[in-house]
Amino acid sequence: MLGKNLKPFDRIKEGITFDDVLLIPKRSSVESRKNISTKSILSRNIELNIPIVSANMDTVTESAMAIAMARLGGIGIVHRFLSIEQQVREIVRVKRSESILIEKPITISPDRSLEEAKELMAQYGIGGIVVIDENSRVVGIITTRDIKFEERDQLLVKDVMTKDVITAPEGTSIYEAKEILKANKIEKLPIVDEFGKLKGLITAKDIVKREEYPEACKDSKGRLRVGAAIGVKGDYFERAEALIQVDCDVLVIDIAHGHSDLAIKAASKIKEKFSKVEVIAGNVATPQGVKDLIDAGVDAVKVGVGSGSICITRIVTGAGVPQLTAILNCAKIAHEYNIPIIADGGIRNSGDITKALAAGASSVMIGSLLAGTDESPGITIIRPDGRYKMSRGMASLAAAIDRKIREKGLEEIDESELLEYVPEGVEAMVPYKGKTTEVIAKLVGGLRSGMSYCGASTIRELQEKAEFILISEASIRENLPHDVKLLY
Ligand code: 5GP
Repeated sequence: MLGKNLKPFDRIKEGITFDDVLLIPKRSSVESRKNISTKSILSRNIELNIPIVSANMDTVTESAMAIAMARLGGIGIVHRFLSIEQQVREIVRVKRSESILIEKPITISPDRSLEEAKELMAQYGIGGIVVIDENSRVVGIITTRDIKFEERDQLLVKDVMTKDVITAPEGTSIYEAKEILKANKIEKLPIVDEFGKLKGLITAKDIVKREEYPEACKDSKGRLRVGAAIGVKGDYFERAEALIQVDCDVLVIDIAHGHSDLAIKAASKIKEKFSKVEVIAGNVATPQGVKDLIDAGVDAVKVGVGSGSICITRIVTGAGVPQLTAILNCAKIAHEYNIPIIADGGIRNSGDITKALAAGASSVMIGSLLAGTDESPGITIIRPDGRYKMSRGMASLAAAIDRKIREKGLEEIDESELLEYVPEGVEAMVPYKGKTTEVIAKLVGGLRSGMSYCGASTIRELQEKAEFILISEASIRENLPHDVKLLY
């Protein structure tokens, strides 16, 4: 049967993406790339020193990546395909990784076993634990140095710990703490009140990190910032609550089709209950999608449908919007509401970052480009032609199988359910790339140069000055090295 109200398709919209354009070079007064600021915002109240966000994918962001990204001035979003407890633990690892003062340090009682102390150290990735009595008074400290060659795990903490602990009073400044640590050649300085009760901990590692990463993205307590993804069904609200409890800085409501009643409802419910937490929602690809999420109260919108490197949504469903058009259209409306957008998916090089920001995004989310680094989860695959790491779509079959195993256990998996699953992502390998720091340095270096070509020394200026030129297939060939035989 034919529908009566056929829509007239006399004007089909046009869409373009990164490779369809170049940025026209403009007169530049920038004397050095160092004078270019890459500061931006992630969401209404979170500032970034570099406009790069690592994607909430299980082959990209857990705590190690989030720590690396925040140290460099960006942020990482821990994926949601973990149990609530596991995701919370990842967030805690980031929040504890460095701070001015650790307010609630991990502690242990002197009567616990060495085995338990070792477990705690491994669980939280820390090198020492303050030992307190039943009245919270500091009675010792146990560090990796105390236990390095001690294999008798049944020993008690009190038998192994260092007893004469050097402490400092509440109100000790970071500079005073540094002097005390230096003078006594120690790593950890418990802060105590007048009764000797533990009030916090300052560590040498945190002080060094502060100096090493001056551009780090930090909260008001000096802790690295981190985000976490949540869904819109099942345990999502409970998950949000648990993440907020451990001071996760931003929640990302992340579903493939973010312009949906479910996403809108989830966003308004979370903003209603927890007005202070920053909420990002997505993914959308149209101005109406952005507006509906902004009306629901979100603090940033994630833009990109079908643009990801491991994504097959456009092939499987026929739906999507070429990414540069999506960014241009979405940014226009988002800027009217003063809400930032995050360009998510399809970034292959630093030039794409410059283009995405020039088109109006405040930051870019990156998946596969970071999946090959040391800090991404997963093992390195060694093949005759080189080293690789995995990058897989969160809607790929392998990711779906893993999710089911986690939820139900291997035995309970219903094969027919999996056969009915329609993947919108693929499993892939990306070349091993070494440290995240090195990858990000290259991307940010390219971005700075790109900004300079546009005559811009800030991202706002880039957005005001940038002019795109549409290019042909022949120009795309000209963009690449041509008429030479590449050495590598
Ligand atoms: P990339 O930087 O690798 O090009 O893109 C990363 C983005 O792809 C993610 O942030 C996410 O938005 C998107 N993505 C991740 N997994 C899938 C998937 O299985 N299907 C689709 N359609 N998109 C995905």
